[in-house]
Amino acid sequence: MSKVLVIGCGGVASVAIHKCCQVSEVFTELCIASRTKSKCAKLAAELAPKTSTKITTAQVDADDVRQLIDLITAYKPELVMNIALPYQDLTIMDACLACGVNYMDTANYEPEDTDDPSWRAVYEKRCKEAGFSAYFDYSWQWAYRKKFEEAGLTALLGCGFDPGVTQAYCAHAKKHEFDSIDTIDILDCNGGDHGCAFATNFNPEVNLREVSAPGSYWEDGHWVEIPPMSVKREYDFDQVGHKDMYLLHHEEIESLALTIPEAKRIRFFMTFGQSYLDHMRCLENVGMLSTSPVDFEGQQIVPIKFLKALLPDPASLGPRTKGKTNIGCIFTGKKDGQDKTYYIYNVCDHQECYKEVGSQAISYTTGVPAMCGALMLLTGKWNKPGVYTVEEFDPDPFLAALDKYGLPRSESRTPALVD
Ligand code: NDP
Repeated sequence: MSKVLVIGCGGVASVAIHKCCQVSEVFTELCIASRTKSKCAKLAAELAPKTSTKITTAQVDADDVRQLIDLITAYKPELVMNIALPYQDLTIMDACLACGVNYMDTANYEPEDTDDPSWRAVYEKRCKEAGFSAYFDYSWQWAYRKKFEEAGLTALLGCGFDPGVTQAYCAHAKKHEFDSIDTIDILDCNGGDHGCAFATNFNPEVNLREVSAPGSYWEDGHWVEIPPMSVKREYDFDQVGHKDMYLLHHEEIESLALTIPEAKRIRFFMTFGQSYLDHMRCLENVGMLSTSPVDFEGQQIVPIKFLKALLPDPASLGPRTKGKTNIGCIFTGKKDGQDKTYYIYNVCDHQECYKEVGSQAISYTTGVPAMCGALMLLTGKWNKPGVYTVEEFDPDPFLAALDKYGLPRSESRTPALVD
């Protein structure tokens, strides 16, 4: 019996909301609130005949803490699921603290305006001190730890697939498979084909910022940064086949370096096709990935935002995407004094997802863990005051929920390793 406020009604939120409505005994009431209320109303109307969850909708600008507080005070949810954009993480955390409500999201904070001088000063200091230059990092949200502890509230960060399930896989490996973990390789493969010359599978702005940034990995207690897409490997993925993958910086490496301190190396690889990379390089070379406004015929235009308006809406890729995703973690380490390897992953079929919830697998593999994370918080399995990432909780009930609600795990104890 829980009342939940979902903020955002895009590709990922739509899947999470579909899945919450399949678990009406827990998610008894849901308010879908977003910037564009008509999208919330459309989804609510589609789901209403199929669920006993009572759905309402609201309009909110989640950049505005006052509006958020007013909405939370009026609706009185037990949990706010932030499935808008990473730009809104801090305002929504502030509103949750002001109203005494638990919080969760699917991606760590990054600012919308990377030219903001006050943010830039902190960012440049962090780049020098930490040794990686991605726009996003956990420091902004970890700064809320004491406030959430003192308020007796839980904030769950990054509960999608990666970050999210990948960290639960790490917690599972640590709890059940290894005495100590030496290396972790996180492999994110999208073997899907949408037939478009160029499109991103989730929010284009957030996606292109992430993949055009320098790559980095954790080794021997420090970050190693490399030029974008400069480390390439090939891997033969179960049910997908051979794919090229590239080393990227990714947010869960930052928290795993702290929570699994014995790990000597943690890397993240994502697959990309040649056409995607060629388009991205070209767009970058002509300045279309820039986040700084340019003056165009008297109007201020942010190139990456303009590009977003031209690219296909990721939600529209659902009906046309065929193939599978395969995302998981390969570990090396020791068990009972013996060397051991272990691979845990999920394979998800784009068309099956579309049949079930009307979305492709990238939104599905993020939205299902968001629902399962909410389920952990609402059923008291993951509640502890403070701000936490997924691997800091017991992975067992979460992985069991993922098995049940659409993202079952596969395992191998003799995987091919990545050199
Ligand atoms: P979309 O762009 O499809 O949806 C974003 C939603 O947020 C839209 O409904 C948008 O409203 C709403 N929104 C944006 N700004 C505001 C605002 N100021 N106030 C209220 N609502 C707002 O994004 P996705 O669904 O693809 O991604 C959602 C989140 O999931 C992102 O944070 C992304 O980084 C994360 N993600 C995480 C993954 C993981 O594995 N952990 C993988 C993929 C994504 P409007 O309709 O008006 O634009």
